Amino acid sequence: MSLPPSIATLPATAAFRLPARLEGLRHLAYNLYWTWHPAVRAVFGRIDSAGWARYRNPIPVLEGFLHWADLADDADFMADLSTTEAAFGQYLANGRGHWFQREHSTALDAGPIAYFCAEYGLHESLGIYSGGLGVLAGDHLKAASDMALPLVGIGLFYRRGYFRQAIDADGHQEHAYPDYDTSRLPLLRVAGSDGGPLIVPVELPGRVVSCGVWLAQVGRVPLLLLDTDIPENSDEDRPITHILYVRGREMRLHQELVLGVGGVRALRALGITPSAWHLNEGHSAFLLIERARELTSQGRSLDDALEEVKRTSVFTIHTPVPAGNERFEVGLVQEVGAPLFAGSGVDLGRIAELARGVDGDTNHFDMTALSLRLTHRANAVSRVHAETANGTWQGVPRAPILGITNGIHPPSWIGRAVRERLADIGAELDHLDAGAGGPFWERLNDLSDRHLWEAHQRQKLEFSFFVRGRLRNQLARHGESPATLRALADTLEPRILTIGFARRFATYKRASLIFSDEERLARLLWNEERPVQLIFAGKAHPADRPGQAVIQDIFARSRSPRLRGRVYVLEDYDIRIARHLVQGVDVWLNNPRRPLEASGTSGMKAAANGVVNCSVLDGWWDEGWTGTNGWAIGGRDTNPDEGAQDWQDAQDLYRLLEEEIVPRYYQRDEDGLPRAWLATMKESIASTIWRFSTTRMLQEYAEQLYIPAATADALATAGEAA
Ligand SMILES: *Cc1c(COP(=O)(O)O)cnc(C)c1O
Repeated sequence: MSLPPSIATLPATAAFRLPARLEGLRHLAYNLYWTWHPAVRAVFGRIDSAGWARYRNPIPVLEGFLHWADLADDADFMADLSTTEAAFGQYLANGRGHWFQREHSTALDAGPIAYFCAEYGLHESLGIYSGGLGVLAGDHLKAASDMALPLVGIGLFYRRGYFRQAIDADGHQEHAYPDYDTSRLPLLRVAGSDGGPLIVPVELPGRVVSCGVWLAQVGRVPLLLLDTDIPENSDEDRPITHILYVRGREMRLHQELVLGVGGVRALRALGITPSAWHLNEGHSAFLLIERARELTSQGRSLDDALEEVKRTSVFTIHTPVPAGNERFEVGLVQEVGAPLFAGSGVDLGRIAELARGVDGDTNHFDMTALSLRLTHRANAVSRVHAETANGTWQGVPRAPILGITNGIHPPSWIGRAVRERLADIGAELDHLDAGAGGPFWERLNDLSDRHLWEAHQRQKLEFSFFVRGRLRNQLARHGESPATLRALADTLEPRILTIGFARRFATYKRASLIFSDEERLARLLWNEERPVQLIFAGKAHPADRPGQAVIQDIFARSRSPRLRGRVYVLEDYDIRIARHLVQGVDVWLNNPRRPLEASGTSGMKAAANGVVNCSVLDGWWDEGWTGTNGWAIGGRDTNPDEGAQDWQDAQDLYRLLEEEIVPRYYQRDEDGLPRAWLATMKESIASTIWRFSTTRMLQEYAEQLYIPAATADALATAGEAA
């Protein structure tokens, strides 16, 4: 049976000592299993509820706690801890009961899948993600763990994370960079074969940069994070891994060399021999070159080496927006990459040809083009995206780009109240693979409308409290009066139909579409019997000025006399805000310019909670919309005149809101229940929770990409031997 590797680490440096009877807490704290198992979080919350509420991370909770003897004498706590530890132990041990081990138990016996990504969104307390790509990667690892699919993740540890967003009183986005203290994060330093900290060398012009490696253990799956901010490096090289999606092109190139080349070397140093390599986005494409270098240094010709690399690698393309594809100046790559490949059989001139983009520009080193040419299978992240991607990359010789639509990891995103109601009909989110396909979810018809409505109202209430608290801090910083702050307690009333819109503020996402006709919108929002409110959140990349202008525009509208009190903008969008929003609003709005949304996943999170989608037929919604599980804005045709298309979509959005969404929401029966709305909510859950789960997604990755790549290699080797 194939298992993910287990990684040796140095002892934690966090300053807490536990009594022997409570040692189990340490294992629970240093495995991110707690991020998707509420019972474990409850244990930490019981130790110190204020500390937990403040840090949302067990390490500082354990560090700050003083009354260990009392705790060890608390029989109720000890019984809870013991039950939780037993469940955790069983989770780690019981590989055979899970999908991969049942269906393909020996397929990856040669070694795990090496999964490379520039960002990972596992939990709000580990800020090494920016948005959708990272959250998808985080959910991928959690699902691989749940399904017992042998996989090891590789990424970078960004000590200064992505930026924290503040919105000032004029609506300007401000950027603050945190400075994470590793001793307070659930990370452990990986040990080398000599028992000391593992150091991985990466040769760069004039010096060798050393990379330390951190382990974030995600259930069964190890995630290795490289870090150049260690004393072995000069002050100038220490910041290489500081900031996710750092602006400077040269710094970004350094990062990607560390990720790709350092990542391969970290795996080698740990004795891990992947059976296939997955590049999630092109940021890690230098791993392909490093592996070719390894093979040529064993005497293989470059052509032969590239063939082998290709046979065992798979690639996921993530963006249909050209600017989203990573490119460097060829000269820069040749200069900075020279020491790494000098004297090897790898000729960077040859590689640059393989990295030529669709425009054929010889000055550009295109990471997506390189990844497409040097992997044997690739996928886009929805069916529409597969179509666009195959069109865009027509000029690059490569295998067809399959469509494997993204999914979400349900236990990470479904709120407690709804989760309990799903348990009532026998759905255990932790074992979604156990026969949980389409027909199973017809059981939702057995769930009482009242119970589902109460669960939704409960999540909505939690959302309101959370948002009011955030808004209070935000407005206090803007200098609003105590009376204004006090009035917040009466806002965001749960009885009001609430529409959520949260995502990266890139202009093609058209966040301000709903404001196209402000008068018409104001009539809708301020209707006395049937009021509506809007809540927005999202960051724009620090270099994206037009995106920041959209935030400013929406912020100004939220303060305008006409809309104030019905439109809110929440700052510092992160996984925690996302969770509250997708669990607690009524309608999830998404209106990108078609076909620029590769997939989108926030709508899937909303749908699984019974929140109803109203979205353009782009990305996942093009295949997720059934006609009765939510609403589609516009159709599938795209007007080349952007302004005309925007106008048309805005009209359609208003029409849907006025004629369908608002009336259905407020139509109540004698019990006060919106029966028709509840039917839509149930449809929303039933039609999406399985199809757009990471369980389904990982089955497709395993069967269409991983196993073919792993066994193609085995077959080819067998062929050579014969
Ligand atoms: C899910 C998620 C995303 C991605 O959602 P989209 O629908 O692609 O915008 C981005 N950021 C956070 C914090 C998320 O949780």
